[in-house]
Amino acid sequence: MDNKIPTILVIDDEEVIRDSCSQILAKEGLCAITAENGMIGLEKVKEVQPDVAIVDLKMPGMNGFELLGEIKELDPELIAIVITGYPNIESAVEAMKLGAYDFLPKPFAPDELRIIVRRGLEKRKLSLESAQLRQEKERIKEYFITLVSHELRSPLATVHQYCDTILGGFVGEVNQSQGEILKICRERVSDLLKLVDDWLSLSRIESGEIVAHPKPVNLASLLAHVAHKLQSKAAMNAVTIRVDSTNDLPSVLGNAEALELVFTNLISNSIKFNVEGGKIEISAHADGKYVIVDVTDTGIGISAENLPFIFDEFYRIKNGATRRIPGSGLGLSLVRKIVNAHSGRIQVVSEEGRGSTFKVMLPKTN
Ligand code: ADP
Repeated sequence: MDNKIPTILVIDDEEVIRDSCSQILAKEGLCAITAENGMIGLEKVKEVQPDVAIVDLKMPGMNGFELLGEIKELDPELIAIVITGYPNIESAVEAMKLGAYDFLPKPFAPDELRIIVRRGLEKRKLSLESAQLRQEKERIKEYFITLVSHELRSPLATVHQYCDTILGGFVGEVNQSQGEILKICRERVSDLLKLVDDWLSLSRIESGEIVAHPKPVNLASLLAHVAHKLQSKAAMNAVTIRVDSTNDLPSVLGNAEALELVFTNLISNSIKFNVEGGKIEISAHADGKYVIVDVTDTGIGISAENLPFIFDEFYRIKNGATRRIPGSGLGLSLVRKIVNAHSGRIQVVSEEGRGSTFKVMLPKTN
């Protein structure tokens, strides 16, 4: 609408109103077109895509209210101004609910029409600009996701794989100090890969992709699978994991892959932030509408002043106990977003030096 003359469609069964509006608007340098009833008005909306529609609320055949609904469906950004010979507050409120921008009672002065149309055109310009910005933001985000997954993730995965190949002795003997340096390289690359993966998962959650096609998920077997997957990591940290869940645990509705990420993050944290000889207990039970999973550890715990921030993006507690523990600070924000996307809740109880319990509540499948 930047360069073209704005088009105003006047839909009214009274010829005198159509003519007078057209004249006033033409004098303003605007392009006015008219329609004598709702059906013709709707056709013209499709045909000329006007910027503003002036709609009479009381017309034979399709009335202004019906017309408003249809118009807004065709073009949500179209500015509709309603006019009526029987002004009352209820019809104004009803018209606004249907998406009308403003209300003009008959009879009206030329200036009143001019001012309201000018304001409407300004609003239209702003809404179109903000819709364009939203689209642009979406496009940049999608581009960024593609860039990160292809240009960043793929080379990192290749470097990780080559470290494995060299460390495995497949391209010649590696002496002890070379091996140690390479192991550090592999660990650092692996941390970076985890960060990229967490970041990509966050973007997918924000786009609503993860719960677009929910399916019943059996949490008992999911928890057993995650515990098994993390068993060797736990053993390396001298931590034991126990899973306590009944086989008749009701299923929850959601995305199994995302829920696996939730419990992988929680249990990984319980391993990472535990103490030598520490314990992790994972228990699941049904309560009312929810399946509740508690992940309890006997680890280093979280102080009261840090507790409110642990779900924030990139938040990591820095102290003597956590200094050497790798992480991105994205894990728990990812966990909370996935749980929220499943209409669930997450709570944490923790005491510094004693351990933590993360409680995840997910709605049962009906
Ligand atoms: P990361 O694990 O990558 O550092 P998270 O978002 O998963 O990031 O966690 C944020 C912070 O919360 C961690 O850095 C850690 O300080 C604290 N934290 C999370 N889980 C636990 C836990 N089970 N025990 C103690 N501290 C924890």
